[in-house]
Amino acid sequence: MSGPLQLEFILSAPDLAQLPDTRAEVAFVGRSNVGKSSLLNSIAGRKKLALVSNTPGRTQLLNCFGLERTAATVVDCPGYGYANVSKTTRASWQPMIERYLLEREQLEMILLLVDGEIGPTKSDLQMLAWLRANLLPHSVIATKLDKVKSSQRDKRKRELSQACSLEASDVIWVSATKDTGIARLRDLVRLWLS
Ligand code: GDP
Repeated sequence: MSGPLQLEFILSAPDLAQLPDTRAEVAFVGRSNVGKSSLLNSIAGRKKLALVSNTPGRTQLLNCFGLERTAATVVDCPGYGYANVSKTTRASWQPMIERYLLEREQLEMILLLVDGEIGPTKSDLQMLAWLRANLLPHSVIATKLDKVKSSQRDKRKRELSQACSLEASDVIWVSATKDTGIARLRDLVRLWLS
């Protein structure tokens, strides 16, 4: 079954302590502009699901969505590596995300989004190293596949996976614009949350 994931907004939590009860959870993390909102909308088959995550005042919160009337949740984490926020803001929210990722017991999988067109940035690689160092379950998703010319794709896939020290087959490639890889990602999310 790879139809859209029925996701309903539950709440936006300022920290771990205020998250809803859940049985299993998947978190989406990535720097801003990587295509996280587009991807969430795409897996949910909705145009504006993730708009809530980009509403002023909510961009620094853990935005929680419930899956298909089950007690499973998808969490949209604040984008990291924002160039235009103050150091103080960044300093307060980075530890909040880290604590969430480290301490949320129900977290089954962390999906780290990397821009497929430009490859992993320094902050993406720092996040990946941190996930590995803390032995947290994670998968790398490369976004915007449609932006890579088809003649360049094999090469690009090799380069991106190597930059992340992964096998090419370990990276999940998607295009929210063209719906590429979306059905497979929906199946994976269902599996992680089952
Ligand atoms: P977020 O900040 O991570 O939530 O990123 P957005 O989803 O808002 O996307 C950032 C920009 O990338 C927007 O201009 C999107 O239209 C564009 N974008 C996102 N996903 C794709 C994709 O799959 N293909 C293409 N061509 N552009 C995309």
